[in-house]
Amino acid sequence: MLHTDARLLQQGASRLGLRLGEPELAQFRRYHQTLAEWNTRVNLTSVTEWDAVLTTHFLDSLTVAQAIPERVLRGGAVLDVGSGAGFPGVPLKIAFPQIALSLVEATGKKAAFLTHLVRELGLRNVLVLNARAEDLAHDPRHREQYDIALARALAPLPTLVELTLSFIKPGGRLIAQKKGDYLAELDASAYAVQQLGGRLEEIQPVDLPTLSGARALVVVSKVSSTPDRYPRRSGMPAHRPLLPPRAARAGLEAAPHA
Ligand code: SAH
Repeated sequence: MLHTDARLLQQGASRLGLRLGEPELAQFRRYHQTLAEWNTRVNLTSVTEWDAVLTTHFLDSLTVAQAIPERVLRGGAVLDVGSGAGFPGVPLKIAFPQIALSLVEATGKKAAFLTHLVRELGLRNVLVLNARAEDLAHDPRHREQYDIALARALAPLPTLVELTLSFIKPGGRLIAQKKGDYLAELDASAYAVQQLGGRLEEIQPVDLPTLSGARALVVVSKVSSTPDRYPRRSGMPAHRPLLPPRAARAGLEAAPHA
């Protein structure tokens, strides 16, 4: 028997200011079962025990709600880039059923899991997109169409912002879940953020006692339209992250008072 004590989930969610009713708790139980079943065939998660799944996946995913404006939670368009087994997008959708959710996932087997999961949980208004973000971001049906882009464990920040910012409407925001020592990444991403039409808005610390290690939400506002040339072709954002041009870096280093 799977040990699925829903109280732990309810308590954790209430620490985040979220109330989960019986239908939502049932959906989380079903999510856990489906994940554990599929994980024997498709590599989706390293943890399958209920307690571990609920802290490292479900509650960790729900922490993004604290950086999402209320009006978006009541019906905005949200995109999860590199969603894998559905994190953080699907737990957010269970807790806030009114959002219109799109999940982008490059790997076919994971996208197949997501499609199955959405049906199992009876979720409405969820689009599973088996595509690479670099390609999808140039499709006018998705470019600059979202209020919020989410990403967890997708890539280091300079790559992550190139893979996500072009999906966001001006006025919207990117919420990237980061853990551990992300400050060097954050510094390195300043140039990409500016090139893509973003502005670093804030870093929100995440406080959930059951999660080990420091966590934070890196929030980037979309302040102007992303130039058409971004994102660059598939693979480039990861292989050659957008860093300041060498000349500018050398110039900065050479100028003693810069
Ligand atoms: N967000 C999930 C999965 C993280 S693993 C979680 O936190 O558990 C990163 C996922 O992003 C993988 O499933 C991988 O297939 C997907 N991915 C990586 N690069 C991508 C790209 N350029 N476009 C779409 N998906 C991508």
